[in-house]
Amino acid sequence: MSGKYEAVIGLEVHAQMLTDTKIFCGCSTKFGSEPNTQTCQVCIGMPGVLPALNKKALEFSMKTGLAMNCKISLYSRFARKNYFYPDLPKGYQISQYELPICEAGHIEIVVDGEVKRIGITRIHMEEDAGKNIHEGGGPYSFVDLNRAGVPLMEIVSEPDIRSPKEAAEYMKKLRTVLRYLGVCDGNMEQGSLRCDANVSVRPAGQKEFGVRAELKNINSFRFVEKAIEYEIKRQIKILEEGGKVIQETRLWDSAAGVTLSMRSKEEAHDYRYFPEPDLVPITVGQKWIDDIKASLPELPDAKRERFVSEYGIPEYDAEFLTSEKAVAKWFEEAVGPGGQPKAVSNWMMGDLMRLLNEENKGIEECPLKPIQLVDMLKLIDNGTISGKIAKTVFDEMFKSGKDADTIVKEKGLIQISDESAIERAVDEALAKNNNEVERYKAGDEKLLGFFVGQIMKATKGKANPQMVNELLKKKLG
Ligand code: ADP
Ligand code: MG
Ligand code: ZN
Repeated sequence: MSGKYEAVIGLEVHAQMLTDTKIFCGCSTKFGSEPNTQTCQVCIGMPGVLPALNKKALEFSMKTGLAMNCKISLYSRFARKNYFYPDLPKGYQISQYELPICEAGHIEIVVDGEVKRIGITRIHMEEDAGKNIHEGGGPYSFVDLNRAGVPLMEIVSEPDIRSPKEAAEYMKKLRTVLRYLGVCDGNMEQGSLRCDANVSVRPAGQKEFGVRAELKNINSFRFVEKAIEYEIKRQIKILEEGGKVIQETRLWDSAAGVTLSMRSKEEAHDYRYFPEPDLVPITVGQKWIDDIKASLPELPDAKRERFVSEYGIPEYDAEFLTSEKAVAKWFEEAVGPGGQPKAVSNWMMGDLMRLLNEENKGIEECPLKPIQLVDMLKLIDNGTISGKIAKTVFDEMFKSGKDADTIVKEKGLIQISDESAIERAVDEALAKNNNEVERYKAGDEKLLGFFVGQIMKATKGKANPQMVNELLKKKLG
C-alpha cells in the first residue's frame, strides 16, 4: 500500500448460531438437508402466523456480547427490514435496528507483535434468508427455504481496522471466540460465518473518512485479505487519477481476484425499518446477564496469558495453542501427566499439525492421545530413543495408534548407548575415511559433522548422538 494513503476498514460479520431450531419457529437448523424439508408456515412466511423468539438465540447473543465486552441492553426490540428478494418469503427480514441486544464492546488482536483493540459497535439478532439455487434447473431458478429463519448474529465493528492483515486477524479472533463459546461453528466455506467488508481510503493524515465501498461474497479467510487488498489498490488508483470513489456495494469475484460493482449502496431509509409488531420487546433482567457472565468459559486471551505464565512457553506458542479450545485441551492433557510444556508444544506445532493436515483432520479427530506423546517424551528423556528416531516413532504412533514403547520394541529402534558398540562404529567410520581424518587433523574441524553423519547412517540413526560426539572428539583429538 502506498504510504500516501491510509485504509479504513469496518467489518459486518454474520454468524449463524448453533441452536437446534430456528429463531422464530421450531424447524431444524441442520445444514445440508434436502431443500425445503425444514420449513413450516412461520419460516415460509404464510400470512397470519406469528413468530416466537427462540430463547437460546437470545442467550447465545448475550453470551457473545459479554465475551466481546459489550453492554447488554436490558430493553431491546426487533424491527422489520423491508426489501424484495425471492429468498425472503415475507418480503421483510426480522432484524434489530435502533435497539440491538449488545452495544459498545471490543476485542483485541495481535498484529506484528502489537496488541490492538478493535471496537464492536453492536451485535444484533436477525433471521437468515433462504437460498436461491440457479444450477441444474435449465431456464429456472429455485428457492430453498431451509435456511430461512436460521438465527444469525450480526457483529458490526467500528471502522478501527487499518489493513487487510488486521481485518484477517480480527476475523480469526472473532471465529476463535465464537467457537470457544460454542455459539457458532465458524465455517466460512459453508457460510455459517460470513463477512462483508466496508473499505475506504484517505490521504495519510486526513481526519475525515473517505467514501466507502461494501464488499460482499467473501467466503474464506484468505479472501478477506485478498478482497480488501484489491479494493484498497482500486480506490487509491481512482484518487491518484483525480477521480472520486463512489459509495456502492461490490461483489468479490474470487476466481478473477477482483471486486465488481453490484449496485449503488442502499441507505437505511430504503429499507423502511419499523418496529416489529408481531413480537414483544425483549426485556432481560440483570440477574440473567450476571449468570451468563459467570458461566463464560476461559476465553482465548486469558488462556493465552495463563499458558505463558503457568507453563513458561513463548507468546507465539501460547497464541497457537489457544487458537482452538480443543487444541488447548490436548496440550493441557499432555502437560498434566508430566509432559514438558515446551516439548509438548513443539511436537504439537510441528509433527502433530503436519500429520493432522495431511489427513485433513481436526484435533478432535486426532487418533493420538496426549498421554501417548507424554510416554514417548519419556523414552527420549531416559535415552531409550534419540530425538531423531522419535520422529519415526511419532509418525508410526499417529498412523497405527500403537504406543511408543511397542513401536520401539517391534521395530528395534532402541538407541545404542553401549559404549563398545559405538566405539566400533566410530573406528569403522574413521578407518574408511582416511582423507577426511587427515584434513580434520590439519584443522578442518567442520568435518566432525561429516563423521557423525557417517556413524548415524551406519547405525540407522540409533547411535546415541552425544556419545558419538564425545568418542569422535576423543579419537580425533
Ligand atoms: P450499513 O452498512 O448498514 O450502512 P453502517 O453505516 O453502520 O451500516 O456501517 C457498517 C460498517 O461500515 C461498520 O463496520 C463501520 O465500521 C463501517 N464503516 C463506516 N464508515 C466507513 C468508512 N468510511 N470506511 C470504512 N468503513 C466504514
Ligand atoms: Mg452494511
Ligand atoms: Zn419453520
